[in-house]
Amino acid sequence: MQARFHAPTSANLRRLARALRNGALVAIPTETVYGLAAHALDAQACRAIFRAKRRPANDPLIVHVLDRAQAEPLAEFNDTARRLARRFWPGPLTLVLPKKPVVPGIVTSGGPTVAIRAPAHPLARRLLRLAKIPLAAPSANLFGYISPTTAAHVRDGLGARIPHILDGGACTVGVESTVLDVTDPRRPRILRPGAVTARQLELFLGMRVRQARSRGSNTPKLSPGLLERHYSPRTPLVLRRWSGQLPAGVAGVLQRRPAGHPWKHLFWLSRRGALNEVARNLYDVLRQADAGRYREIRVEPLPAADSGGLAAAINDRLQRAAARH
Ligand code: AMP
Ligand code: MG
Repeated sequence: MQARFHAPTSANLRRLARALRNGALVAIPTETVYGLAAHALDAQACRAIFRAKRRPANDPLIVHVLDRAQAEPLAEFNDTARRLARRFWPGPLTLVLPKKPVVPGIVTSGGPTVAIRAPAHPLARRLLRLAKIPLAAPSANLFGYISPTTAAHVRDGLGARIPHILDGGACTVGVESTVLDVTDPRRPRILRPGAVTARQLELFLGMRVRQARSRGSNTPKLSPGLLERHYSPRTPLVLRRWSGQLPAGVAGVLQRRPAGHPWKHLFWLSRRGALNEVARNLYDVLRQADAGRYREIRVEPLPAADSGGLAAAINDRLQRAAARH
């Protein structure tokens, strides 16, 4: 199989919507990263996602919907979840709620909860509107590798394993959605930091939002897919402050463009250190460095101080990318 690229014409979107209804896999752009989408209520189609990605069955999928009306038949909403959906959807906030029986067990890894979000990307929305079905869609990469933020990234990992890629250009957010457990509406808890920050959630809800410990032994129970090692290049990645020197065979990744003359083996994530730019470029730059046959990628971490903001999501991904097997 060799994946076909589809430009986002109306005819192609109709064709891909039909393919999805019929159980095919389609890689689609969202504002966070590219997703590998399938009919969420078709267990066989969802099984094909796990096969294509080589994803273990204990790592549940996020279900993408157009809006709350499409989400309500899939999950038991409470008032907190409704308020959050009204405020943050469409957008990069995934809500974990008790699932309703129509959701196949394969989507939730057999668990009693389902993760749902309404993506903001205009092409994802047009496709959802045309297909009229919820779409299960994890990141469109081989399990454990760096998430894809362009159609070319998807092809590099899955090109020989899936039939269709909808090319919507580069993702604007660049890191995955925030996963928020709201099964207990009085005790919302962030399972994965993302583009909607803890600070935004706390301000809006007027209550404390806890962070599940992102590392450590109890994480798999909370959110099975949140492995310590994830989002990883093949080249060993090390987090270390920039010393101004690069040993031979080592690539450097800085948070911002260095002053003066750029060096050959030095990459940077933003021009002036703007966090949204860092997030947007992160996976593309890590992929570039990984393709450079270095023996090590040395990434400058963000200051840990901003733990309630976007920096938390970026550092979370960097720490997982750096974790050893
Ligand atoms: P991906 O779409 O590849 O970013 O992966 C989705 C992630 O969402 C999974 O790895 C889980 O960590 C999380 N997730 C999905 N469903 C659930 C759920 N029912 N409960 C907790 N976390 C979930
Ligand atoms: Mg993923």
